[in-house]
Amino acid sequence: MVKKKQNPLRINYQEGIIEEKLWQIRDRANINEPKLVNVWTVDIKIGESRSFVDFIRQSVQKMEPVTFQHIKRIKKCDENNECLTVIVCSHFMIKEKDDFMHFMQEAPFSFQNVKGSSVVPQNGPPTKSLSMEWSNLYWPLVWRGNPNDQILNSYVFDMNFIEATLKQISELSLAEQASGKQAAVVSAFVNPKNNEVIFVSDHRHVCSPLDHSIMRGIRSVAELEHQKKQDHTNKGESETYLCLDFDVYTTHEPCSMCSMALIHSRIKRCIYLTPMNKTGCLESESGDGYCMHNNHSLNSKYEAFRWIGDEYPAAQIESNVCC
Ligand SMILES: [Zn+2]
Repeated sequence: MVKKKQNPLRINYQEGIIEEKLWQIRDRANINEPKLVNVWTVDIKIGESRSFVDFIRQSVQKMEPVTFQHIKRIKKCDENNECLTVIVCSHFMIKEKDDFMHFMQEAPFSFQNVKGSSVVPQNGPPTKSLSMEWSNLYWPLVWRGNPNDQILNSYVFDMNFIEATLKQISELSLAEQASGKQAAVVSAFVNPKNNEVIFVSDHRHVCSPLDHSIMRGIRSVAELEHQKKQDHTNKGESETYLCLDFDVYTTHEPCSMCSMALIHSRIKRCIYLTPMNKTGCLESESGDGYCMHNNHSLNSKYEAFRWIGDEYPAAQIESNVCC
């Protein structure tokens, strides 16, 4: 990852806008709400903190899905500085107390007061003042800057490729509208391994009412994968999620069915041209504000961006149509 100052792209971290054209879509209503996770804590003697840290490195980190980089794992548990309360792992890693006790048989230190009731924020807070607030409310945190700034800074935005793809779906969508099609939604699925692009359009009036362009795109990727598996030269490739880390471009903000299907397919990001205020499911202001790609209640996420320049118009679609 390049340093923020050295990033050649102009990124407005405050607003989440790249090159003044790509606007990061986030669940703005819940940005300041932590997503909490229960953790297993134990009390140890102060002289055993070194053994604890070694144990975490050797036995916990490789299995722990929560990073804890923003959390002080060790805190004092009494005024005399003789005892420490430490976080061993999250409930995502070990759910049941019996399993936790079994796991701790390997611990190279003595401990007592096992508890599974403490909660900590899974992700770092966006501001320093929230970091202090959450530290008081939940558990002491370390302020390392806004984690979203790091996400934006580490992303690769090939603006030429992005614009070329948006131009293509825009032109295809306008051409379909000109030929009289009602739901002229067009999507493009980009395979991260080879930059292969699959273009798909909406077929709800051709076959099934569920044939939205994104659903058809996912199916096309599945069919291609199936073909590859039949080709014996690709037998060695490991099976994985459909569309893993794909970029999906689409002319109109996806509906709940399509945005959920993109969650299941494990795409990396969705870039679209036109918001659909009634039927869209990504923006805080769209539909019922579910923000599917960024919703706290779902374990998987993807990034979403809307193109806010006016270079690439999409077909006009009635506001109550799901895209
Ligand atoms: Zn849809």
